[in-house]
Amino acid sequence: MNTATGEVAELEPRDPGHLSVYLCGPTVSGAPHLGHGRVTLVWDIFRRYMRWSGLSVRFVSNVTDIEDKIIVAAAEEGRPTAEVAGRYEKLWWKTMDGLGVERPDFDPHATAYVGEMVDLIAVLLAGGHAYEGGDGVYFSTASVEGYGLLARQDLATLRTGARVEAADEAGKRSPLDFVLWKRAKPGEPAWPSPWGDGRPGWHTECVVMSLGLLGEGFDLHLGGLDLAFPHHENERAQALAADRRFARHWAHNGMVVDERGDKMSKSVGNITSLPGLLDRYEGRVLRALVLNSHYRSPMAVTEGALESAKGMVERLDNFVRETRDLPPAEPDPSTLARFRSSMDNDLNTTDVLAGVFGAVSDARAEPARAPALAAAVKEICQSALGLALPFEEERLNPEVLEGVRLRDEARARGDYKEADAARERLVAMGYVVEDTPAGTRVRRRPR
Ligand SMILES: [Zn+2]
Repeated sequence: MNTATGEVAELEPRDPGHLSVYLCGPTVSGAPHLGHGRVTLVWDIFRRYMRWSGLSVRFVSNVTDIEDKIIVAAAEEGRPTAEVAGRYEKLWWKTMDGLGVERPDFDPHATAYVGEMVDLIAVLLAGGHAYEGGDGVYFSTASVEGYGLLARQDLATLRTGARVEAADEAGKRSPLDFVLWKRAKPGEPAWPSPWGDGRPGWHTECVVMSLGLLGEGFDLHLGGLDLAFPHHENERAQALAADRRFARHWAHNGMVVDERGDKMSKSVGNITSLPGLLDRYEGRVLRALVLNSHYRSPMAVTEGALESAKGMVERLDNFVRETRDLPPAEPDPSTLARFRSSMDNDLNTTDVLAGVFGAVSDARAEPARAPALAAAVKEICQSALGLALPFEEERLNPEVLEGVRLRDEARARGDYKEADAARERLVAMGYVVEDTPAGTRVRRRPR
């Protein structure tokens, strides 16, 4: 859905066959949280689906490596800001790898774009869209017609909200105005500018990066709903004021909430961060959880929802194992057609899952269609949505193979104590152990 119009719109790329996409990335001032997991997975699924549909996708997502929150974190640790930002950026990418989220094609860093930001601020000042206050340069929101479009709220409401946030920005003329350039206090990291040494405000980097790497009128600007206002509106206002054509479409994903529907601030069980969640649940489970909620709806991350997503992954794993030895077949066309129509209807991934599990039941009921249905399920899950099925490591892991061999040998010689011990070791490694006429069979359970 296009946030700027409130309607589901046809996505027609600026350049036929190519999609240019910008997603606001992390401020590397701490460990990634559950909301980061959702935003990156939602748009990773979208990106893979677009590519699977035959478009080439140019995907840009920035790293904010200078910002007030980083300065605060660095001061608390008594370490340089660059070191702290570098450490949290490493953790960010490691977490993304754990989620199975593909790296962006470009990951511009704010500190590498300060010069471009200074140039944009100069243009905004020259055009009368910005002014110097006591402590920096501010953008004048009143100077732009239609300010507030992405908020989808009236300006009076916005003004009340804005007042709370910006108590430290003394030079502002209106509570909705925002800082473009912040003069540095002693000891803070600083870059030179015509308005004194300082650093850019957060809302400017995405404007110069997206336009610089994707060009004017790029196709799609993405992000979490919490960024629609003021961050994205402030990006849009700057581009408009600088007379540049900005994003042609905007899309936002909903927030992560707890079981009561409140914005997620507390932990799930004892989990407070995304890396903590990934210690307990593999990335595939989180991907299934994201697929199981509509991207625009609030998504509850609860023990129950996670266990249910894990159950889905396990059912899919089992289905792929069951159908592993069927003859190869082309994916069932009607299953793929249903998948496309669900995805093209504003990424209706809950409907996608219903279709996938429908295909699983059909394959069991109609063995003649099983090869084509199994091929369709694998095509949809793995190729189009990035959900690998299943992990094949039980075939490869020598420790597991050794465990199976020891158990079979112990059973053959009637040593049930040793057979049980071997079984326990396999279970501890995360495997379900089954006895079959052909000997011990193991399958890995999703974590
Ligand atoms: Zn941004």
